[in-house]
Amino acid sequence: LYRLRCCSYPEGGFASENAWITADTVWPPEITSIEFNGEMLETRKKLHHGKYLPVNVTDLLREGTNVLTIGMDTNSKRPATAKRYTIALEVLGAQTHQSILENLLRPTLPESRDAILSRATPSKGDKDEDVEMTDDLTITSTSQTISLLDPYTASRPVALPVRGKACLHRDPFDLDTFLGQLAPAQNLRLHGPAPPPGFVEGSSVTHPDAWRCPRCRGDVRPQTLVVDAFLLDVLARLKTEGKLGGDGGGGGVRAIVVNPDGSWAVKDELAGGGGGDRAGANAGGGGGFGVNPKKKVIEVIELD
Ligand SMILES: [Zn+2]
Repeated sequence: LYRLRCCSYPEGGFASENAWITADTVWPPEITSIEFNGEMLETRKKLHHGKYLPVNVTDLLREGTNVLTIGMDTNSKRPATAKRYTIALEVLGAQTHQSILENLLRPTLPESRDAILSRATPSKGDKDEDVEMTDDLTITSTSQTISLLDPYTASRPVALPVRGKACLHRDPFDLDTFLGQLAPAQNLRLHGPAPPPGFVEGSSVTHPDAWRCPRCRGDVRPQTLVVDAFLLDVLARLKTEGKLGGDGGGGGVRAIVVNPDGSWAVKDELAGGGGGDRAGANAGGGGGFGVNPKKKVIEVIELD
């Protein structure tokens, strides 16, 4: 699948692929016409929920040279500070649930632990965090709380803790729950030479723009997903000790506290009553969140 997207060009440019992915699509009024291989594209009508949409050009693509012609209104009384824009042709591919699992970035346990300890970028309001620099690594000298609960259900512990490469937060989210809630795309057909291995004809394809972190809305396309081996180990230990809440939630450990030296402990629940109530409300709702672990095909954006 191929699509055209136009975004505002940020001051200093797009620092990373992540910055492009999360940028809003906009078709500015200065562009009067866009032709692709002689075919006029409709961009102005591509509004959806007040947002501009990318234009699918897959059917217009041909072998060899493709011609993109952009008409601009240069006579208009645009202010001297006219904005700059970037237009890109995005190439989208597909991956199956299985291939996503196989291709997850899996750092070692020490790497994951260091990542958590160094992820100390104090956010606003985090002023009391005492940050010191050692060996180019920022280390907090205060302990950090990490929630082990899946952000969607807020009652079940995550099974496979992941984050996006660009995520700055320490709290993970659960991969399966995340994949299960991705909305299927409407009218999106798979094109290209061959469907991915494991593709089941007729299975649903998720929307390419749905790959946003449930915690920070950042870029979490499959190729950016990182498993947290440290938390995976913590979860396994808690499970062995029987301290992890079951599928229905409730009762289990909700969060841990990680110390600057990498040691950790179960976080004491201060408001035990409130916590219990919330877990109780969701108890038994193990599969009631639109979770469909059998979903086969996942759409992935790949940029050239
Ligand atoms: Zn995030």
